[in-house]
Amino acid sequence: MMNEYLKNLDRIEFVVTMACTGRCIHCSEGDHEGYTEHIDADVAVEAIRKVCAHYPIRTLMTFGGEPLLYPDTICRIHAAATDLGISKRQVITNGYFSKNRERIEKVAMDLAASGVNNLLLSVDAFHQETIPLEPVLYFAECAVKAGIPVKLSPAWLVSREDDNPYNVRTRQILREFDSLQIPLGSGNVVFPSGNALKYLGEYFDTNVEESSPYEEDPLDVRTLSFAPNGDVLNGNVCRTDILEIIRTYRPSVTGTELNSPELVTDRLILRKFTPADLEALHLILSDEEVNVFLPWFPMKSLDETKAFYESRYAEKYRQPRAYAYAVCLRENNIPIGYIAVDTKEPYELGYGLRKEFWGRGIMTEAAKALIAQVRKDGDIPYITATHDAKNLRSGRVMQKAGMKYCYSYHEFWQPKGIPVVFRMYQLNLSADESFVCNVYWERFEEHFIEEGLS
Ligand code: SF4
Repeated sequence: MMNEYLKNLDRIEFVVTMACTGRCIHCSEGDHEGYTEHIDADVAVEAIRKVCAHYPIRTLMTFGGEPLLYPDTICRIHAAATDLGISKRQVITNGYFSKNRERIEKVAMDLAASGVNNLLLSVDAFHQETIPLEPVLYFAECAVKAGIPVKLSPAWLVSREDDNPYNVRTRQILREFDSLQIPLGSGNVVFPSGNALKYLGEYFDTNVEESSPYEEDPLDVRTLSFAPNGDVLNGNVCRTDILEIIRTYRPSVTGTELNSPELVTDRLILRKFTPADLEALHLILSDEEVNVFLPWFPMKSLDETKAFYESRYAEKYRQPRAYAYAVCLRENNIPIGYIAVDTKEPYELGYGLRKEFWGRGIMTEAAKALIAQVRKDGDIPYITATHDAKNLRSGRVMQKAGMKYCYSYHEFWQPKGIPVVFRMYQLNLSADESFVCNVYWERFEEHFIEEGLS
């Protein structure tokens, strides 16, 4: 899977442009006059092809502004969707892009030829305050003649049943389409934002907090929505390959995720490893120097790293709770290290970092962020960490993260089979201030307290 947050992706939307022929008082976009930008057709088509190679896209929608101000772009997008077997190919339009009857006929024919099979016509009291009905009626007639399934899609104020003056007017307008026998769709209920809030505020109950029907769950992105300038998810498809944008997408809201919830610091992203990170993980785990003080031998092959990933990360991510992170720089979100806290006693903190990044305080920054999260979650009473007495660099991370030296012990260390003096550090969270975890003290016969350490 390319990205767990998009595992249910099955829909693509293009806001083709925000340029518009209407100036509706219910428009959720507010005032968008003077807008000229529109999505680049080549970029859009390439993105559709790439996404469809990895995801079972079922619906593609183009809308705006008024998308038919750019009919060639719309047709290229839908032709690609047809070619790729996307079954529902939808356009939402206010139906007014030209008064020229020949042009209107041609656009309708071109849309039909491109494979558009669902055309929603936004006609109602709001649109028809600034948009003339006659060219819209003619476009509807041409679209029906061209064989495109058309539905009327009005905006209702308060509800479809409510008898406010706008809804009364909308019903009159809809009757103008009777002779064309175009079915009436469900339309939508005006949402209180943008112009709607500004001009129609009296119709909304401002004490009730409504959630926008257009918002995606950032943890379960089912629709890939492209803005006219190419913005999509956390990237821009005009600058970055769409598959890279998808691969690196991380939600900025992590909700109630209890297993390694993403953490962001000034310079870092702490997130779960994914199978796409194997090469980056291998760079960390295969370095001789980085792994001198760690309880395993450097990885010799990508297969070994893969097995390590499966047992140390993928397995943990299947648990309800874990803290097992890739440490990435924010600038590229590629793992350069790892950090973890065990959820079982003695709640051990462990970490590693590629040596090119040593000496910049990166692991201290990561450790502080992780400890803050563990403290916030509240069910781990203390954290311990141990380091080889020769590995002073690691000891400094523990000190800077607020941990206190408690004792040392001598261990014949496996799997490397060498004698090592370890120093144990501890940070009490909810545990009593004076509490010292004696797990290592009891496990290793030779233990002692070194003077002058803190
Ligand atoms: S509601 Fe639609 S047609 Fe009306 S101004 Fe907004 S984008 Fe244009």
